[in-house]
Amino acid sequence: MAIEKNSVVHFHYTLTLDDGEEIDSSKGGDPFAYLHGHGNIVPGLEKEMLGKEAGAVVEAHVSPEEGYGVHDPELDMRVPKEVFPPEAADDLQAGMMFQSQNPKDPNQDIILRIVGIEDNVVYVSGNHPLAGKALNFAVEVISIREATTEELAHGHVHGPGGQNH
Ligand code: ZN
Repeated sequence: MAIEKNSVVHFHYTLTLDDGEEIDSSKGGDPFAYLHGHGNIVPGLEKEMLGKEAGAVVEAHVSPEEGYGVHDPELDMRVPKEVFPPEAADDLQAGMMFQSQNPKDPNQDIILRIVGIEDNVVYVSGNHPLAGKALNFAVEVISIREATTEELAHGHVHGPGGQNH
């Protein structure tokens, strides 16, 4: 069968940036699994996967708009360390994520990531680490099957390469 809406797809992938830096790869581990047509993977890659058969090799060049979004400078912020609870302030480090009010829309929460700390200033960003980057996916389709009713209800794959719950 070819990949279509509601297919469960297992694939191996390597993700690199345009400068050749490897970001992530499933090689050497279990294939990654996703449910096609449910936004489990970035839109640009999902588009390229449509209609492919098991064994297909897919080279997808994905623009930031169809990847993790464009980089929004307004979501890069510096905040004083004092805004963090005192018991957390000493343990802050780059890479930590926390939920906060979206500065652009107070009715919405946003996930902020600490990107750096300098004295009493904490640099945080609501941008995805790969926002603004073009993504190059080298994919090998391993297997394709129909989703179960439960998987469709949850909107994701269960079992190896997917969710275990
Ligand atoms: Zn589930």
